[in-house]
Amino acid sequence: MVRKTTIPESTNLRYTTRHSDVEGFDSLAELALDMRWSWNHAADSVWRLLDPDLWELTHNPWAVLQTVSRDRILEAFSDPSFRKDVARLLKEKKKSTEAPAWFQMAHPNSALSTVAYFSMEFMLSEALPIYSGGLGNVAGDQLKAASDLGVPVVGIGLLYQQGYFRQVIDSGGNQQALYPYNDPGSLPITPVREPNGEWLRLSVDMPSAKMWLRVWHVKVGKVSLYLLDSNDLANHPSHRQVTSELYGGGASLRLKQEIVLGIGGWRLLRKLGMDVTVCHLNEGHAAFAILERSRDQMEKTGQSFDEALATTRAGNLFTTHTAVSAGFDRFEPLLMDRYFRKYAENDLKIGFEELLSLGRIHPEATDSLFNMAHLAMRGSGHVNGVSALHGRVSRHILGDLFPRWPTPEVPIGSVTNGVHAPSWDSEGADALWSNSCGKDRWLLPTESLENDIHRLSDESIWEFRNASRETFISYARRHLTRQMKVSGESAELIERVSSFFSPDVLTIGFARRFATYKRPNLLLFDPDRLIRLLHHPKGQVQLVIAGKAHPADLAGQKMVREWISFIRRPEVFGRVMFLSDYDMLLSERLVQGVDLWLNTPRRPWEACGTSGMKVLVNGGLNFSELDGWWAEAYSPKVGWALGDGLEHGDDPVWDQVEAESLYEKLEQEVIPAFYERDRNNRPSGWIQRIRESMACLTPRFSSNRAVREYTESYYLPASESVRSRSMENGASGTRIAAWKKKVANYWATLKIRNVSLSNKESQFLFTVLIDPGNLDPSEFSVELYADAGGDFPMFRQKMEMDPAAISGDRLYSATVPANRPPGDYTARIIPSFPGVSVPLEASQILWQK
Ligand SMILES: *Cc1c(COP(=O)(O)O)cnc(C)c1O
Repeated sequence: MVRKTTIPESTNLRYTTRHSDVEGFDSLAELALDMRWSWNHAADSVWRLLDPDLWELTHNPWAVLQTVSRDRILEAFSDPSFRKDVARLLKEKKKSTEAPAWFQMAHPNSALSTVAYFSMEFMLSEALPIYSGGLGNVAGDQLKAASDLGVPVVGIGLLYQQGYFRQVIDSGGNQQALYPYNDPGSLPITPVREPNGEWLRLSVDMPSAKMWLRVWHVKVGKVSLYLLDSNDLANHPSHRQVTSELYGGGASLRLKQEIVLGIGGWRLLRKLGMDVTVCHLNEGHAAFAILERSRDQMEKTGQSFDEALATTRAGNLFTTHTAVSAGFDRFEPLLMDRYFRKYAENDLKIGFEELLSLGRIHPEATDSLFNMAHLAMRGSGHVNGVSALHGRVSRHILGDLFPRWPTPEVPIGSVTNGVHAPSWDSEGADALWSNSCGKDRWLLPTESLENDIHRLSDESIWEFRNASRETFISYARRHLTRQMKVSGESAELIERVSSFFSPDVLTIGFARRFATYKRPNLLLFDPDRLIRLLHHPKGQVQLVIAGKAHPADLAGQKMVREWISFIRRPEVFGRVMFLSDYDMLLSERLVQGVDLWLNTPRRPWEACGTSGMKVLVNGGLNFSELDGWWAEAYSPKVGWALGDGLEHGDDPVWDQVEAESLYEKLEQEVIPAFYERDRNNRPSGWIQRIRESMACLTPRFSSNRAVREYTESYYLPASESVRSRSMENGASGTRIAAWKKKVANYWATLKIRNVSLSNKESQFLFTVLIDPGNLDPSEFSVELYADAGGDFPMFRQKMEMDPAAISGDRLYSATVPANRPPGDYTARIIPSFPGVSVPLEASQILWQK
């Protein structure tokens, strides 16, 4: 039986008992535990007032609230205006929670009940360090946009005892990795309890013993995020460590984490009694949810595994984020055996080899690894990449699952990522946008914002930019001072930081993970030329760099050292900063302050990229490789582009070509554009680009647009489809499974006997004679196909069956315009069943010889 579990009220939390008798404390706790504060800054003044230093360092209201003394809280509440502010904030929060949002207005009465969004990482705020980078960014920003738009999403993730590592640069210029402990008591999370007060716990079976999982709740505006955590006292020590760190340890730890996320995650949804129609798998890490969802279905309906999978997969959406096959998680069959043999045999009631074959291209290749992306493809009803280019790349790298299908027909679509503008905009940007487009601009479709921003004057844009740059520089100096104290620099040197950078100089930012494919040292290709560039005759340039290299990535760490040693050269003293410990807090400041955001990945390995989108709302411009989102966004009106729009792998000769082109464009286009001033001493060409980029790109590359696109293109259809397959104990799913089995067994008995062509009133008439073998004509369809080529797009058309059978054979025909050579057309047979996605769910194909 499913027990309803309630989300705890702040009053029955473990950590709040200290001051909970203070009148008004509960209101503060309610505000502090809703991570809406990470984008709605209305309450910032409250936290700043309670403890300005701690607030500046952590931006964590919950930590502030737990640290301040009882006297401080009493004192604050003794001021009537403080009491009024808190009351107003609560009222506003309530209003925003209750008002119908975009989803309720645009899709009333839809079949979509709940979307469960599974992800290994979520980047919501520095106060909840359970992320590493881009993947977590996408997940966090989508949850926030789902809250804004009222899309019924719940997040499922892991609570790590240590988040991703923290970076310190030592005096030798080396990166040191630190792993501070995530004290759950100071994170803005609360334990999920049963109605009787017992902490909600789940278990999953491990080979040695049961592993218990505790559950935490994070409130993200209107959306809930649940985090699973294995650090339960009842667990064996080896199990307590399963959720110890993000992207640490070896394959076995990763596998166990993915079991927790996928299998534990689905069990949690079940236990919470949620009616989940759509499972959104953010990357293949969560693909075990597919198995557990099927197992759950088997239990409810008595279906077999194949039938349950055919029923439920219609409700699974797989988003792939990887641009190289090596990026997919793959596990050794022996490791899989240890963790999944029993689960396959006892729970799914299938052979272990059958389970393994879901993660393999060729089921018969018994030594090949179990690929999580393959499981995700075989268990989903929809699949997408994260930019148009990445969709194309994914159709190539996952194309082997669809042998003999043309690559453009590999069933992977794309939704380009977006960022949550209210989380990344500066106070100044928020004011500017609020003036032009109103306060609620990110709550509804954003297509009309473009016109409002186009009307901004040069003066207001430029003043805003100058102020933003200045704010950033004073932040950067403070950050650098702290960082230099930690690495033990001399007092004289530290004193000089206050003169580093200048508020009216072109400020270029480069910050990202130091992974080789991102080429974080492309700008260092010719250090002397970079030095000349920083002292450009038209005007100077200052450069701010940040980024972490994974502790196991020696090449990445070497690139960090290269930057540090460059910065120490006397010729660039005070003009280039490396700010350590790139995290969300630093990232926010950077994207709010810099004039130009640089990005130099090797195409097409960026997949999408999001950091460049964060500067849009803040009036920063992009100069990036034509990869990921920038390949869609770029035009000369909005910024600058690197590369020829083609792939060159990791060819060092091409790196050199691009390095030179990078310098040349900076020297000849970017720097002159910034310093070319009109009679008001404003760079009108630069400002024009800002206006275009803010107006046209910010709404397009927002998570508001991305979540609406996911909702309308995927969540709603997936929800309809899984509901219809599930009716009457999954009757339709069961029929689909039977059809799939029959098609697989008898595909080889199909034959194309003969194709003939005649002319008919300036059209071609194709007729095809088919021997259906042991299949019924209702189980497949016959098509005429032509590749894209020359001026012609790809062509496919279903052929009509002549009702008269010729001694068992069937005749099909189609007429097509005679505007392309008849030799372009080929007849083919593909599986067909109403409502089933082909080739995703059945990948057979038979071509005319
Ligand atoms: C936005 C962001 C990322 C992702 O940036 P990309 O350039 O798209 O890889 C990674 N880390 C942090 C801290 C970010 O804020």
